[in-house]
Amino acid sequence: MTTPFLKGKTALVTGSTSGIGLGLATALAQQGAHIVLNGFGAYAEAEQSIQALGVQTLYHGADMRKPTEIEDMMQAAAQRFGQVDILVNNAGIQHVCAIENFPTEKWDDVIAINLSSAFHTTRLALPAMKKANWGRIINVASVHGLVGSAEKSAYVAAKHGIVGLTKVTALETATTGVTCNAICPGWVLTPLVQQQVDAKAAALNISNEEAKRVLLGEKEPSMQFTTPEELGALAVFFCTAAGNNVRGVAWNMDGGWAAQ
Ligand code: NAD
Repeated sequence: MTTPFLKGKTALVTGSTSGIGLGLATALAQQGAHIVLNGFGAYAEAEQSIQALGVQTLYHGADMRKPTEIEDMMQAAAQRFGQVDILVNNAGIQHVCAIENFPTEKWDDVIAINLSSAFHTTRLALPAMKKANWGRIINVASVHGLVGSAEKSAYVAAKHGIVGLTKVTALETATTGVTCNAICPGWVLTPLVQQQVDAKAAALNISNEEAKRVLLGEKEPSMQFTTPEELGALAVFFCTAAGNNVRGVAWNMDGGWAAQ
């Protein structure tokens, strides 16, 4: 068995109490990284599952809509672990509604959580990463960072925005050991997507399983959900030496969605 190659490093994953964030945190912890967890809900369970992998954890409940709470989280992470070596900007929410009826407060929340929070964590993490001349910033965008879908204006705008932020961060760090890349999943069966499956099942009066097939059939040629484990493996790859010169990519894992 080889030594986990991220031993001694610290990864902060926003929105890691469930779904993709927890999957990415798990994959990085399996490679030995200490993990700073964040997000709402059942954080104790998430923390226990990561600690069971033999790494240390810190949970911080910063609300990604609030820059002062983000600053507090970044400071707490630095105090506990010295610095954040791997930053995963993953926290996100969805709201599905036509533009003319889109609640303005939902627009603000989606932009704040899915886009602006990544600006704040990145600006706060970069100085120490640059000083160490090593760092990884991984932005969880979406296939919606590459293509649009009706009734997802705020989400698509935020995800296209984070793909842009990824490119600029990659350019500003291009001569350093810090890289920044985005992951663009298609459908992943997490609580965020289960809500959309539930809405489809109710609207069409069909079962949960049928609703999943309808959802996949509309967009994803593979007819398969991407898994948090598959996304975790991509995040781990970005952290390897082979990822040293992978800069500013928006890498879709979307079952062919964006290829159409
Ligand atoms: P999820 O609902 O399972 O998890 C979202 C996480 O974000 C949770 O930990 C939640 O507590 C946290 N969160 C929500 N609001 C927050 C706030 N204000 N402050 C701090 N944390 C907050 O969703 P998921 O599907 O795992 O989504 C994770 C990321 O992946 C999101 O950015 C999402 O846009 C993206 N994504 C998901 C899919 C998918 O199919 N599920 C596809 C593409 C991209």
